[in-house]
Amino acid sequence: MNKKKSVKIKSKKQIIQIVEKLKKQGKKIVAYNGSFDILHAGHIQSLKEARNQGDFLVLLLNSDKSVRSYKGPNKPIVSQTERAEILSALECVDYITIFDQINPKNILKKIKPNIYCNGPDWGKNCVERNVVEKNGGRMHILKWQTGLSTSKLIKKILETWHKPEIKAVFLDRDGTININQPGCVRKISQFKFASGAVSALKRLSKTDYKIIIVTNQAGIDRGYFKKRDLEKIHQWMLKKLKKAGVRIDKIYYCPHRPEENCSCRKPKIGMFLRAVADFDINLRRSWFIGDDNKDVIAGREANIKTIKIGKRMPKEIKLEPNYYVKNLLQAIKIIKRNET
Ligand SMILES: [Mg+2]
Ligand SMILES: [Zn+2]
Repeated sequence: MNKKKSVKIKSKKQIIQIVEKLKKQGKKIVAYNGSFDILHAGHIQSLKEARNQGDFLVLLLNSDKSVRSYKGPNKPIVSQTERAEILSALECVDYITIFDQINPKNILKKIKPNIYCNGPDWGKNCVERNVVEKNGGRMHILKWQTGLSTSKLIKKILETWHKPEIKAVFLDRDGTININQPGCVRKISQFKFASGAVSALKRLSKTDYKIIIVTNQAGIDRGYFKKRDLEKIHQWMLKKLKKAGVRIDKIYYCPHRPEENCSCRKPKIGMFLRAVADFDINLRRSWFIGDDNKDVIAGREANIKTIKIGKRMPKEIKLEPNYYVKNLLQAIKIIKRNET
């Protein structure tokens, strides 16, 4: 990265010379002034509109001292050096010069722009008008960019910043909570909790993570068992877990076969997205524990920290979980250790 100051940023002396030269070449010079603290799309629109009034746009940027003198000691948020650097990267800005006074009358007197732009709040009734017109320039009043302002952005940040973020631990079912069965679990008698899984889940239940099961159950669409059989298994499982002090907030399952190409069967992330919509979950702060390669792919695709129980990923998949563990308890210990 080029650390040098942008060539667009000029001292007062330099900008006076540059403008003089350009005007001799018959170029129309536009001047515009502002503090541009926390740049937003409204700024960009006004800058583009200003630039379109002539051949060169000279931005008169209020210095930190200048901003403080009219907006109080807490502004600007972004320093003049950084504001100038950001603005200098814009195509529609040709030159920037920083000034210390409350208004840019002094510098306008010197550069005598052909056009001076101003927002519609003061419009032509601005204090700079006299200086501009006396030197042969004209005023251009920019269209007001409704709905966009730095103060609105800051207000929105303040309103949302302290809202607690909801995080979740997503759990695969078969091979994670219960033991995998050849030909899948079709009835309650085939459902065996994995060793230590229930006490591990009990530990997890004491945290403020939502606990959500996401399970592929293609056996339904393959005709091995019915939705109501699965729901019976889940009711039984939830009852057992609840008795043991385990909280499960939700179970999502995908009944589809791979050939159906649905958006919910892992490694697709549809079930996670449903959970986000239902619980306002921040996936980035969440975890996914599963035993299958598909679980790792889904977790990584959904930007969730992923823990794989059992075998390592095959090299050809070229994706790794964040952790490998032997069982659910180890996984939950990792999650608790990483808690912030
Ligand atoms: Mg599994
Ligand atoms: Zn599905």
